[in-house]
Amino acid sequence: MLLAIAALSIATTRAVIAAVHEPTISAEQALKLLLEGNQRFVAGKLEHPNQTPARRAEVAKGQHPFASVLACSDSRTPPEIIFDRGLGVLFTVRVAGNVADQVVIESLDYSVTHLGVRVVMVLGHRRCGAVIAAVEGHEEEGDVGPMLSELKPAVAASRGMPGDPVENAVRENVKLVVKNLATSTELSAMVNSGELKIVGGIYDLETGTIELLKD
Ligand SMILES: [Zn+2]
Repeated sequence: MLLAIAALSIATTRAVIAAVHEPTISAEQALKLLLEGNQRFVAGKLEHPNQTPARRAEVAKGQHPFASVLACSDSRTPPEIIFDRGLGVLFTVRVAGNVADQVVIESLDYSVTHLGVRVVMVLGHRRCGAVIAAVEGHEEEGDVGPMLSELKPAVAASRGMPGDPVENAVRENVKLVVKNLATSTELSAMVNSGELKIVGGIYDLETGTIELLKD
């Protein structure tokens, strides 16, 4: 009885100290699983895991996703398909241009602190329409919407680079969004401690491959 009370006390103390949810799996394991699923997708060897009625019933009781993905709304880049995953494993945020405003940051923060996610992938893609609009509109004066405003720093950072302006802006945007997330009030402490990884990737519409960007 005393032991039980002691155990309960320790558990309660831990719950108070560790407000952040225990990891579902480590960041390294999560990234490995993501890339393995993408390799199946690229090779046309999809397994369609976790898509049965039994899985649906299982995750109805609670979710424990192992990764979060911030992707573009583009109809050709659905994370569950390009990572060959099913129900309850990917926490996804999708918005045109895969930008991270405060609502997006809060959503991703929720997946980390409440659901146990330890890897967040920012997934841009080649020939992104939102980025094309931002690149083509960069000389225009006047009001731009919130989405194009979010993309302006990437356009500015990539201006003058050799190569294709859209491809360059797509890459710069992913890098900047990764940096913004990693230095955000919500996530920076866990990134700095090494517990949380935020990685950038570029999806190729033709091949289905994902190129991980270096820091
Ligand atoms: Zn896009």
